[in-house]
Amino acid sequence: MAKTKTEESDKRTPIKLRPIIRKHAGKITEPWNIMENLLADCEVFAPIKHAHIKLYWQKDWKADADNIAVGAQVCKASELDRNQVEEWGGVTPDIFIKLAETHWPAFKEIDRERFIFHELCHIKVAMDSNGKQKLDAKDRPLWRIGKHPITTFPAEIERYGIDAVLGANDKMLEVIRFSDRPMEKVFDEAEKSGMTVSAEVVLTADSWRNYLLAHLGCSARVSKALETAGLKTLGELTNFQAKHGDFWIKDIKGLGATGSEELTNRLESFWTEHPEYCQAQSEEK
Ligand SMILES: [Zn+2]
Repeated sequence: MAKTKTEESDKRTPIKLRPIIRKHAGKITEPWNIMENLLADCEVFAPIKHAHIKLYWQKDWKADADNIAVGAQVCKASELDRNQVEEWGGVTPDIFIKLAETHWPAFKEIDRERFIFHELCHIKVAMDSNGKQKLDAKDRPLWRIGKHPITTFPAEIERYGIDAVLGANDKMLEVIRFSDRPMEKVFDEAEKSGMTVSAEVVLTADSWRNYLLAHLGCSARVSKALETAGLKTLGELTNFQAKHGDFWIKDIKGLGATGSEELTNRLESFWTEHPEYCQAQSEEK
């Protein structure tokens, strides 16, 4: 029996992506409505209010080997995308957001909003060195897709609590700041070795060695004495201690009794306040 036309057409590659129409029968469609309300109401989205974001439905999102299911996705319009749209007289797109068409109706209202909220969080203004939005040669604003500042596992939250996980990146930034290695350098190195910037890159066993003694918050007298002794970093001071033995502090000229006590206290507080360095120091041994 000959195949019907429908059976033949079923062999064609299905189309998985289609634009979500903004207005249908005079009403703004639900995903657009959610997005526009979030952009209007949330302070966090003020910088991206003027971005031209286009919504798309994507069919058949599946879970991967780790059982991770992506329910939404964001990407930047390429130069080619922009040129194509402009060629046909459309509004230059900046960003595309894809939503899970097949599963959308099964999500609760709050989760639908959360999906769109999440993708909007990824959209960042591409800044120049003066803190202004970068423009291309046609004066089109440039954007970038930001990364997640929090990456975690349910087991990590169970063991350490949500606050520790939420604060993890800030803590990391603080460590980087105190390590006196310019952040750019950390990023450069990570890029060169093809690694992502993570705790492993920054907290090497000897990163505490680069800590500048000037940041200990010592008095002018102690700072001067350290400078005169040629000691700038914690690493140099540790070497000095090793070389001069138990009475090393007496070998730093100009400290006096008060200065010695002050330096001892400052060092003690430093190690207490920076347990991450103690750990790195002990791993080195
Ligand atoms: Zn994301």
